Amino acid sequence: MESAEVARRFLKFFEERGHLVVPSASLVAEDPTLLLVNAGMVPFKPYMLGQRTPPSQRMTSAQKCVRTPDIDEVGKTTRHATFFQMLGNFSIGDYFKEQAIPFAWDLLTRPQAEGGFGFPEDRLWVTVFHDDDEAAEIWNRKVGVPAERIQRRGMADNFWSMGVPGPCGPCSEIYYDRGPEYGREGGPVVDEDRYLEVWNLVFMQFERGPGEGKEDFPILGPLAHRNIDTGMGLERMAAVLQGVDNIYETDTLWRVLDRAAQLTDTTYGREHRADVSLRVVADHVRSGTMMVADGIRPGNEGRGYVLRRILRRSIRNLRLLGAQDAGLMHELTDVAIKAMGEQYPELVRTAANIHTVIDAEEESFLSTLRTGTTIFDTAVAETKGAGAKVLAGDQAFKLHDTYGFPIDLTLEMAAEQGLSVDEEGFRRLMKEQRDRAKQDAREKKTGNLDVSVLDALLTEAGGKVDFIGYGQLIGEA
Ligand code: ATP
Ligand code: MG
Ligand code: MG
Ligand code: MG
Repeated sequence: MESAEVARRFLKFFEERGHLVVPSASLVAEDPTLLLVNAGMVPFKPYMLGQRTPPSQRMTSAQKCVRTPDIDEVGKTTRHATFFQMLGNFSIGDYFKEQAIPFAWDLLTRPQAEGGFGFPEDRLWVTVFHDDDEAAEIWNRKVGVPAERIQRRGMADNFWSMGVPGPCGPCSEIYYDRGPEYGREGGPVVDEDRYLEVWNLVFMQFERGPGEGKEDFPILGPLAHRNIDTGMGLERMAAVLQGVDNIYETDTLWRVLDRAAQLTDTTYGREHRADVSLRVVADHVRSGTMMVADGIRPGNEGRGYVLRRILRRSIRNLRLLGAQDAGLMHELTDVAIKAMGEQYPELVRTAANIHTVIDAEEESFLSTLRTGTTIFDTAVAETKGAGAKVLAGDQAFKLHDTYGFPIDLTLEMAAEQGLSVDEEGFRRLMKEQRDRAKQDAREKKTGNLDVSVLDALLTEAGGKVDFIGYGQLIGEA
């Protein structure tokens, strides 16, 4: 079953059950607390909070998502992409778990000839929040899932929150058992590779408010009405339905991966490191293409920086695969546009624009790499020559300041050489430079110092680098 068909089937199932089909919102979140849409529910947040009246109390969508925090997992796990599509059904104060659970079960297990996905019942496992007896009962009594295939989990796994203030609540995840060739038996808690999380049903009934910390926003209390928010991973469903090992081998991503293998003269499936790079390229090229199509441009801040990092990582991985020439990104973007064009016709219409942006970023990064890599290699040789394991902060600073090497690139390249980087030293130098710039500005009494430039430097220098690893750049100035 093609990816596009997975989406069609999902939407049709819920449309037939009274849901309004809502088109995907742009990846650029309207919500000021988020940079990029990271879940299907994001556009529906104001309805759940009772701030806006929904066009219908039952809605369904296939939402484009980008999850920057998953970037380090890409290529390494079988199931994480930066760009993916979340299929969802939503109830705004209409039905709750007693109906959401049977809906999900019906769609998953209904034969394909009758519009379902045809999963065998005994391949499905579910988890519920540890004290959600109600959900466990519905799964067991109403739906008929045997008690031994229902697992209970705590706050960390089965209480869903946006990562920013907003609605939240206990959730119930549905896992597909890929069989003994993928690991031990015993359900999702035992082995992550064998049991693939395909769908999460969230019982949105509380609200988190603003507060300290990244994900520990305090729970303010119950929402005025109870809502349903579900998220099914289209790529993961496609992987199961297409009988492939991981999401990068499903129809659309495979086309990019395969072309990248051809262009770099690499054979997929022969060597682990090369496979990881090919998967990163496949995901990142598609991700970059989708972000550019939604109007994002590479830059040094916020979502522009996320896009830049994603594009540059694709280019770097192509180099790691042995690519020498320029222009590879153009070819791969072309494949991504064609592969995604059926679902997103605007990609084809705006192809020329997408190419202009991605080509320019490739050109500029290749020239950065050309000059910076020599300097980097010298620094590595010096470090190793001195028997040290840590690249000095001033080297990293010079690479950044003079050669435009972003710190995360230096970190990655150093790690490939078995070295770490004195990040603290690097940050100190960046701060000194920033203080000097401020001082200069004060002396010149310009009065309208362009803080965005300083912020850009900070983004790369300060704790904000790790937003890429941990969060979605919450409340970025
Ligand atoms: P995981 O535990 O595998 O990281 P999650 O619990 O973080 O997934 P949810 O927030 O519950 O994911 O999102 C709902 C669904 O979206 C998941 O069940 C999965 O099918 C899909 N999904 C989540 N993250 C990704 C990703 N990075 N790439 C592809 N699909 C994803
Ligand atoms: Mg996750
Ligand atoms: Mg999970
Ligand atoms: Mg989940």
